[in-house]
Amino acid sequence: MRVLQGLKPQSVFDFFEQICAIPHTSRHEKALSDFCVEFARERSLEHMQDEMGNVIIIKEATPGYEEVEPLIIQGHLDMVGDKTAECDLDLEKDGLRLRVDGDFISAEGTTLGGDDGIAIAYALAILDAQDIPHPRIEAVMTVDEEIGLLGATEIDLSMCRGRRLLNLDSEEEGVLTTGCAGGRRAHCRIPVKRVKQQGISVQLRLEGLLGGHSGTEIDKGRVNACVEMGRFLALLREKIEYGLAEFSGGVKDNVIPKSADARIVIGQKEIDTLRAVVAEFERQMRAEYGTADPELRLTTDERGQCELPVLDGDSLGLVLDALNLMPNGVQSMSADLPGLVETSMNMGVAELGEDALMLDESIRSSVPSAKEQMARKVQRLVGRLGGSVEFSGDYPAWPYAKDSKLREICVELFEKLYHRKPEVLVIHAGLECGILSDKLPGLDCISMGPNLLDIHTPQERMSISSVERTWEYLKAILAYKER
Ligand SMILES: [Zn+2]
Repeated sequence: MRVLQGLKPQSVFDFFEQICAIPHTSRHEKALSDFCVEFARERSLEHMQDEMGNVIIIKEATPGYEEVEPLIIQGHLDMVGDKTAECDLDLEKDGLRLRVDGDFISAEGTTLGGDDGIAIAYALAILDAQDIPHPRIEAVMTVDEEIGLLGATEIDLSMCRGRRLLNLDSEEEGVLTTGCAGGRRAHCRIPVKRVKQQGISVQLRLEGLLGGHSGTEIDKGRVNACVEMGRFLALLREKIEYGLAEFSGGVKDNVIPKSADARIVIGQKEIDTLRAVVAEFERQMRAEYGTADPELRLTTDERGQCELPVLDGDSLGLVLDALNLMPNGVQSMSADLPGLVETSMNMGVAELGEDALMLDESIRSSVPSAKEQMARKVQRLVGRLGGSVEFSGDYPAWPYAKDSKLREICVELFEKLYHRKPEVLVIHAGLECGILSDKLPGLDCISMGPNLLDIHTPQERMSISSVERTWEYLKAILAYKER
């Protein structure tokens, strides 16, 4: 029954296995939140649970550590629930089917939720232990991180005395994350008008793309399917008249779209020109993106005579302007931290409805004023196109601190344990540290974690040996006292 029995550290894997048995995808973390509260009750630990399900559990310092500054240990309770087409589990109701293969733990057919279940498992193991020396521990467990850092945004941290925070939501051992970008979502709506048009209906599909995370993979030079389909349609318009009936691409604002579809209506005599423009476009795309996105292809499927409501001339112009002029991809690189993307945009979803084009954009920047400027650009452009923008999901950047005592300690202890230097990184993605730093002025923060691969996909797996090494490292940080 117990799949992880015998793995070390046993206490961490015991808690991890219990967590995996409780469904806890975003917006469905109540049972896991209650489990943590029950855990605290059984051990008479001071705790709180708010209405959303965020939990804080306090454990006082062990003897000799009363004078050491408290340490906040933090992770999120929710996981991304994704599964393969064949998987019959209901992730809102069923526990995961864990599997051990060599050094890796995974879940059969689903995401594992090592992101961020391992943080909760570490926290519970520390709170449960009788033999680990530590200062006052304040374990902060948040909900709905994966859908916009919602729990962290709402949580009341007034019971936390610590101004040092260890976030356990990073996925690469040996990397200490020390800063992240802030973000905002823009939902754009551009009204359009339609007219009936007769002709040959042609389905266009741009596919075979890699896509990826709109923060960490925005600098990989990959194709954004929505943007490039917009480019193709603009090129086509230079050659022939056509009607645009349908356009859609992408699934989430923070994912680079892997495919886009369009349906156009054209005259019979334009078919040859269409084919020529498609071939020329594919050739250009391969020359531009052959290295970053080699499998790209644009397919056409001619579906015969029809009459469809297509965009009128003005509306088609507006839609092509929106798709072609909206800033997309890396906008600027950091001058302070070489190699770091400072500001970026991702057109994550494009959907042409009956009477409007909807675009979901993800704006990211490690510089607050640059994020504002991107928001203004979107507003201006969409305003010019007669549309409107709604912003949501704003969260602050976590700026790199020039001086950080916690970072010094973490670097020193890492070198001592592993005889190599950890990588100290600032990332172009969102972490809860920015929001929490806003709530606890002067907060000294570090993010770390064991090796997790392919998170947010059914291929997610977690390295057992890395969990063990990270546990030893964590215990060393807890035991650290200034001499
Ligand atoms: Zn996470």
